[in-house]
Amino acid sequence: MGFDFSRYRTALFSAVAVLASAVMIHYAVGEIDTAVYVNTADSGQTGRIIVLDSGHGGMDGGCSTAEGVTEKGINLNIMLAVRDMCRLYGYDTAVTRDRDTSIHDSGVTGIRNQKVSDMENRLELFNKFPDAVCLSIHQNTYTDPKFKGAQMFYSSANPDSELLACALQSKFVENLQPDNMRETKLCGKELYLCHFCNNTAVMAECGFLSNPEEAALLTTESYQQQVAFTLFSGLNEFICG
Ligand SMILES: [Zn+2]
Repeated sequence: MGFDFSRYRTALFSAVAVLASAVMIHYAVGEIDTAVYVNTADSGQTGRIIVLDSGHGGMDGGCSTAEGVTEKGINLNIMLAVRDMCRLYGYDTAVTRDRDTSIHDSGVTGIRNQKVSDMENRLELFNKFPDAVCLSIHQNTYTDPKFKGAQMFYSSANPDSELLACALQSKFVENLQPDNMRETKLCGKELYLCHFCNNTAVMAECGFLSNPEEAALLTTESYQQQVAFTLFSGLNEFICG
C-alpha cells in the first residue's frame, strides 16, 4: 500500500487552518482597527515583505457566480487566510484592504475617479517596499462555462515575477488541480497593478466563477482555505527555495 498523500494533505490543510484561525483571533483582539491600510506583522524571517491584494471591494464586486456571489468577498477570504499563514511563518505582510471597501482617497467623488484612486493606492503599496513580493488575488470569468482552473499572470517589469508565477501555478497543479494545463501568462497594461509594479508581482486568477463546479467550490470556506494554503506554499517556495 502506497503513501496516501491525499490524507496527509487534508491533515496538513486542517492543521494550518486551525493555526491560522488562532492567529486570526489573536490579531482580531490585539489590533486596533485603523483606517491605515498597511498592516505589518512584528517579525520578519527574510526581510522581504509580502504584499497581498484582494481584488475589488466596496461597490466594485468584480465578477460573480450565476447565483450572484461576487468575487470581492472570495478574494478577501482567501487573502486574509494567506496573510495569516504568512504571519504564522514569520513573514512581514502588508495588505491593500482587510475589509469590504474601496481604498480610494477620501474626497474623491465619482465612481470612475474612485476606481482610479483605488488602483493608484494599491499600486503605491505594491511599489512601496524594496524587494517586496506582491500577490493580487482574483477570480476569473468567461462566457463559456466549461472553462475552469487557476492561472497566474506576471509582468515583464521584474524577471522574478515569472518565477513566482510558475511556483504558484505548480502548487495549484500539485495540491488542487492535477489536470490543470494552463500556462502562466505575461500580462498587459489592462492588469494595471501587476503590469506597473516594479517589485516581484503576480496576479492569481484562482478559478472561474462562470464554471458551476468551480464556483461551488470557491464559495466554500474549506476550499478557500485550500486555495490560500496553495498560494502560501507557492510564495514560501519562491522566497525560501
Ligand atoms: Zn477580479
